[in-house]
Amino acid sequence: MQDTYLNVRFTSYDNKDQVRAFPSFSLLTSPDQHVDLSPSIVARIERSFEDKKTDFIPVFTDEYHLLVLIVNKDLEQLRLDGAALYTRLKHERFENSVWREIEKSGLSQQEQYAFLEGFILSSYAFDKYKTDKKTQSMDLWIAKKSFVSLELDKLSLLAHAHSICKTLVNEPVNYMDSLVFSENVEQIGKQFGFQTEILHKEQIEALQMGGLLAVNKGSSTPPTFSVLTYQPQDAINAKPLILVGKGVTFDTGGYSLKISGNMLTMKCDMAGGAAVVGTIAALAGNKIPYYVIGLVPATDNKISSNALVVDDIITMMDGTSVEVQNTDAEGRLVLADALHYAKRFDPELVIDMATLTGASAAITGSFGTAVLGNEQHEINKLIESGELVYERLVQLPLWKEYRELLHSSIADMSNLGGPIGGVSTAAAFLQHFTDYPWVHLDIAGAAFIKETKGYRQSGATATPIRLLYTFIEQKCR
Ligand SMILES: [Zn+2]
Repeated sequence: MQDTYLNVRFTSYDNKDQVRAFPSFSLLTSPDQHVDLSPSIVARIERSFEDKKTDFIPVFTDEYHLLVLIVNKDLEQLRLDGAALYTRLKHERFENSVWREIEKSGLSQQEQYAFLEGFILSSYAFDKYKTDKKTQSMDLWIAKKSFVSLELDKLSLLAHAHSICKTLVNEPVNYMDSLVFSENVEQIGKQFGFQTEILHKEQIEALQMGGLLAVNKGSSTPPTFSVLTYQPQDAINAKPLILVGKGVTFDTGGYSLKISGNMLTMKCDMAGGAAVVGTIAALAGNKIPYYVIGLVPATDNKISSNALVVDDIITMMDGTSVEVQNTDAEGRLVLADALHYAKRFDPELVIDMATLTGASAAITGSFGTAVLGNEQHEINKLIESGELVYERLVQLPLWKEYRELLHSSIADMSNLGGPIGGVSTAAAFLQHFTDYPWVHLDIAGAAFIKETKGYRQSGATATPIRLLYTFIEQKCR
């Protein structure tokens, strides 16, 4: 019996249409595609496996055939191998590659999936502003007989949602301000199958979101507050799980200005918001039966004569007065209103994600994310999911003493916690606005990287989409 093949096509950007300017992945069944390998090549490959000397061997024949072989390794190494293969194919300008497993490889489904995941995630490139684009089309043909039980459609869609998140973050603020971001959210909702509601400035004022409005005071672009709702009919949960993401489209620091080059890459300060969009897109696209709501407050943090200054006292949506001691601690101000807004949904759990503190990046580097919260059981599950997909979490303390560090002599709280425990005091500030099970992810270190490493391109990494997707998918099992 001939193999049939599943085709994953990587295509370049469509530069004419900004909203659709994402690499696309389409899965096509192509029953007439087949590859015949000569017995001598198969024997050579099988010998290599027995020797276990090589990671993978490409076999080039007269046509475009290529066979990839891998020896057993841990999942992350397999993802990196997938990335290395993609890089090689791209370098060789291969337009077609075929993937079929040899029986003796002994790879489990999970290992096959990891390898393909690394391969597909590597294909993203953000070059829409380059005149000379290096992006090229490439077709990967996967033998369905060999990979019959792999969830290829699921992986393809997850990679697509991943790319969307990266592009939202990689776009500079002159192309991706709060208004454009929200327009994108609406488009992505239509594309992937979830509801969207965009609250504009009048509604945000009517809701008295004092934190979001205060940060927005220095901007010529009004704020938006995006509400994403994915409530499938077969959802197994009655109360929603809510994802909240910081959407600061650019952070100058405000009058507590970022200096000495620290302002560079601050377009990434909406990586939490973009990850909320990407996660819900992946869940909706793959029809995961879980009720999830996303909340993304969006604004830039800039300077004007009207901008927020230190010493200002602002009143948050829940009525708490806050003494602003540092305008660069703006993320917690916009998030606090979103966390208060979440209460109206009576959530089973709220997970917020934000590029919140340099203190977090100093602890984790780009290798992981800090996690804090009041629901240890869920934190443990998140840590497990993080290990599985290699978006690792390290838990930091949320001791009550951190709250005392946010003391203000003239308001209910200060937005600044002082020189110690910066990740924990930021989380303690957020905790004040919660009355439900809650987990906070400080993704400041891992969300945006300078240099490409394996399947993570320089720029946005789309952390923690794979972590959250796995965490929520496992709730459905
Ligand atoms: Zn800031």
